Amino acid sequence: MSRLPLIAGNWKMNTTVKEAVNLIKKMQSPLSKIQGVEKVICPPFVSLAPARAILKGNSIKLGAQNVFYEEKGAYTGEISPLMLVDLCEYVIVGHSERRQIIGETNDVINKKLRAAINVGIKPILCIGETAEENESGKTQDVLGRQIFTCSDKLYFLSGMVIAYEPIWAIGTGKSATGEDANQTIRFIREFISRLHTPDLGDAVRILYGGSVTATNISEFMSQPEIDGALVGGASLQANDFVSIVQQTSESKRLQ
Ligand code: PEP
Repeated sequence: MSRLPLIAGNWKMNTTVKEAVNLIKKMQSPLSKIQGVEKVICPPFVSLAPARAILKGNSIKLGAQNVFYEEKGAYTGEISPLMLVDLCEYVIVGHSERRQIIGETNDVINKKLRAAINVGIKPILCIGETAEENESGKTQDVLGRQIFTCSDKLYFLSGMVIAYEPIWAIGTGKSATGEDANQTIRFIREFISRLHTPDLGDAVRILYGGSVTATNISEFMSQPEIDGALVGGASLQANDFVSIVQQTSESKRLQ
């Protein structure tokens, strides 16, 4: 089964609208020349509309960083999946910063995934273990529970992407090794095969995330189970992000 590699840039709560527009303009031309990789940029909500206007007709896709699970109503400050439909194709759901800082649970994340999939937006579901869970050998239990609860009653999983992001590696400069990430991602794929179907386990794209840079990307992309990366800090530097996508294209072409 060949899976199209995907590199997504999570800009987090960075860039004003003006800065976002400038950054997209800087990346747009070099990124659109790179073949064989799906490229997704996830700027803050307020920059999605201007980004969409700049990227009209371009192969670079947009993603939101979060979504609420209701369609509309008295939910002050929230953004519904319906509101995103005309703005982006992807949405990051269950990022560890939202789990840890905002208190999002696997049950809430499951509702968000269902709401996004219902309107045709593809979720990038983030899962990952803490340093303590990793050190005490609980990684597989934690990931299994996250996948089990988050994917409950989800019937159209085929477009979903999973990002395995060990929490201890996010924004710390301390990434997993390529081999360890590959092994954990193989476990995730096998778990999904058993929980859902072997075809889905084979087809679902699973990314690595956590301190990915232009220097270490090829270590991850040379691994057969890793289908791409969710990139935080390095996605805010145009040259670094373009280089990450370029190296992914070269590395996956050779596999
Ligand atoms: C992220 O925000 O999902 C992430 C992986 O961040 P960083 O690349 O900065 O570790």
